This record gives sequence, C-alpha cells and structure tokens, in this order.
Amino acid sequence: MAIDTDYNLLVPSRSNYFNTCFYCGCIAARHDYAPPLQYVEFYLATREPSEFLKIPSCNECVELLKACKAGTLDERRLFARAALAKKYAKALTIYDMWTTEELAGLDFSLRHSIEAGLKLGAETTQRLSFAGFDYEAGGISQQVHDTAPLVFEVFGESFDSFREALDFASKAYRIPKNALKEAFADNDNNFERAINAIHKQVAEKEFNQQLKQQCAAFAKQHKQAVIFVHKQVERYLSENTEMTIAEALQQLYDTRVKPAATRH
Ligand SMILES: [Zn+2]
Repeated sequence: MAIDTDYNLLVPSRSNYFNTCFYCGCIAARHDYAPPLQYVEFYLATREPSEFLKIPSCNECVELLKACKAGTLDERRLFARAALAKKYAKALTIYDMWTTEELAGLDFSLRHSIEAGLKLGAETTQRLSFAGFDYEAGGISQQVHDTAPLVFEVFGESFDSFREALDFASKAYRIPKNALKEAFADNDNNFERAINAIHKQVAEKEFNQQLKQQCAAFAKQHKQAVIFVHKQVERYLSENTEMTIAEALQQLYDTRVKPAATRH
C-alpha cells in the first residue's frame, strides 16, 4: 500500500503562492496526488507516466479529481479544469450572456438569480484561467509555461475575454448573444466568420420571403400556378446571378405569359 512519503511535495517557488491550489488558485486546504494514492501499485507495476507529486489543492479540486486516474500533473490539471467548467456551466453561460447594466429592467427574483450567476461565473472564469505556478519538488525546479494570453478579435477590435468580445459583437452587429455564441462555436471559434454566416443566413431568409411573396402575387395577377412561377423564376435566377426577382418575373411575363400575339 502506498504511503505519503513516496511522493514529493510540490512547493511553490515564490512565497505568494504558498497555500494556493495549483489547479485553480483558490486557497489550498488539502493535497491531490499524482498518481492517485489508490493507483500507486498500478503505476509502479506498469511504469505508466507519473510524477509522484503531492499537490496543494482546494477542497473542491480534490473532490472533483477523485474521478481522475491520471498520473501526471498536466493531465490532472486539464481534468480539474474541465470538471470545474462542467460543474459551473450554467453560471459561465450567464456570465457570457449578461452584463450588470442589463439587469435594471428585470423583476426582483430573476435579477437576484442572474446576479448570483454573474458573480459565480466571474469567479469560475478566473479559476479556469489560473495557470498554476513555478514550483520545486524533490529538489527539482519546474517552470510552468505561461499560456499565451487569450485574444478575441472582432473585425479589428481586440478583447481579452470571450465575454467582452461577445458583448461588443452582439451590440455592434445586432445579433442576439445566444445565436452569436452558437455561431462562434460552429465557425471555428471565429467571430468574423460567425457574424458573416449569420448575416448570410438572414439575407437568404429575407430573399426567400421576397421570392415567395412576389411569385405568389405574380401568379395571382396573371392567373398562373404558383409552383410554375416559382420554378421558372428560380431557374432564371440560377442562370443569371445578377438578376433580381422583379427582373426574373418580367422575363417570365415576356416569354411565357404575355399573350402570344403581342410578343415580339
Ligand atoms: Zn482548486
């Protein structure tokens, strides 16, 4: 059976990180073990990658990491981060979607719950962005690589958080945050592509509505079957991408509808 002393304690290189959870930056209360104590025999027998570290952690990270069998610090950090993001997904969504100024018009109970979500979401975002710290373990120093700071671009404007970028883009391009967030994910996590895709969808929708309305009106006026008008107009438009719906209808009238005697 494993004992504590098989592990090297992870000690922050700088004193300002003493008693800090390596995974999320909260106050450390316990230790996480890489590999987990109950799998030590497995890691010794298989020599699967493991660092035998005893890691200062907060209560919550220790609890979340109980489900993690990984033996390395990096794997455990990724696991803890994903578990935190999942646990607080609702608050993170609220934090992305709302700003404090928008709360004014809400009734008390809704405002209260969104305020709580905003606070929790802000706190979770901060924990998720905690990069760990340089440390020593068993007499060896380790530098934690700072991950490059996040930058979100929206047509030339830069933001250092997704939330700010979403708020800006939603207001500037008049797209609801929900739809924009979804499109962002569907378009390679890129705001510009997301905005273009949504504008294209809107334009297509408007065009199709126009097409439907104008074809129906034409069919009624000239006593034609709507489906015939629609099909012909679509054909003209596909043959000539510069053509407008009105021009296509005119062409239909000139070539197929106008009494034969008056055709040129
Ligand atoms: Zn933690």
